[in-house]
Amino acid sequence: MQPSAAPYHDWNERIEAECYRPVTRCSVIREAGSKRIVNALSWMSFNFGPTLMVWLETEAPGTYEAILAADRESAARLDGHGNALAMPYHHPILPLSTDRDRRTEVRWGVADFRRRFGREPEGMWLPETAVDSATLDVLAEEGIRFTVLAPHQVDPVPSDGLPGLYVTPGGHEIALFVYDGALSHGVAFGDLLEDGVAWANLMIGDEDAPKLRSMATDGETFGHHHKFGEMGLASAVVEVQAHPRVRLENYASFLAREGVSHEVRLVEPSAWSCAHGVERWRADCGCRADSSSETSQAWRGPLRSALEWLADGLHEVFEREGAGHFDDPWAARDAYGAVVGTGHAPRGRRGALLEMERNALRLFTSCAWFFDDVGGLEPRQVLSYAARAIELAGADGLRLETGFLKRLEEAVSNRPEIGSAADVYRRDAEARRSAGAALGMERAGGEAL
Ligand SMILES: [Zn+2]
Repeated sequence: MQPSAAPYHDWNERIEAECYRPVTRCSVIREAGSKRIVNALSWMSFNFGPTLMVWLETEAPGTYEAILAADRESAARLDGHGNALAMPYHHPILPLSTDRDRRTEVRWGVADFRRRFGREPEGMWLPETAVDSATLDVLAEEGIRFTVLAPHQVDPVPSDGLPGLYVTPGGHEIALFVYDGALSHGVAFGDLLEDGVAWANLMIGDEDAPKLRSMATDGETFGHHHKFGEMGLASAVVEVQAHPRVRLENYASFLAREGVSHEVRLVEPSAWSCAHGVERWRADCGCRADSSSETSQAWRGPLRSALEWLADGLHEVFEREGAGHFDDPWAARDAYGAVVGTGHAPRGRRGALLEMERNALRLFTSCAWFFDDVGGLEPRQVLSYAARAIELAGADGLRLETGFLKRLEEAVSNRPEIGSAADVYRRDAEARRSAGAALGMERAGGEAL
């Protein structure tokens, strides 16, 4: 239960109702009052985080099916190139991940994509478009052919909207599409969604339009950040479809037909939502959600170091104990990506060790650092993963928890009544224990009846 999402139970439920569901079935009113229903995802590149897909699959099956259908329909129309892009599994800032975690996150993301969409992914969306050369090396090695970046992340930006060709330090090639910054900003933060026809004309109306024009925003822009924004989106889609000289397609289809030749350098590390490289996810760089407030984000550094220290300790346990359960523990962790989230985990200690590693990976979900205070919902979420991983660590759990709490003391909230991340961790753990005890009593009562 997340009270800030009221009247909904939690934020997944609320945004499903405000955005994910409406986007897959938008009404477009045409002249003469005729109404057409459009699945906007059938007409644009999109990506959904695997962890959100796990939730949608059981909690919003109609929307889940419409997302899969959008990929199938677009693939049928565009010579096999579907609209869906893959994503690293837990939305980490990959330039800040260890080499091993970076590889696992990409492999799990690819495995999850393959299982859901029934095909190999061609593109991968990077969380916060956070990129460096090591990240692109892994993507290319794992078979990914392109990603999408902001204009300030490549040098030079190729002309005519064309993608850039990047050669990784490992000698692999990957295409980098660069979205139109002004247009994307106008949709996310301006008023372009209020009139889909005017928006479409801005994209396709000018005589010297580039060969490729693309834009990128948070999916939640459509209906969550902008109420009824999905209607503007759908009406722009219908307008562009009707234009005789414009082809409405996706990145994969464009790349397959046109190829890529303009070599570019990377501005690294960089991301679309921090002007200081990737500092937003480890330092008090000045980026924050509410720029009108004078809050400090000095908690970001200690939160990350504490989690990195804990993850190292968990990996030691996994390697030591895992040696008795798996031929190669790290290969077993990578392979777990094919079944994680399906309820088909191995039983016993093997399963517990893999679940411990899953929780160790999701400690680095990027939203924990994105917002302004360590007492917020997102840092509390990763602290609950930490608590779960510690539970699964067995005999080492107590030692790890003690060391972790000591480090969390350094991550201090802006609000004195919240205290430090260690206080947050202890309070939430206590609340979970009493909720568990209450549930236990209910169960016991049921059995007595
Ligand atoms: Zn920043």
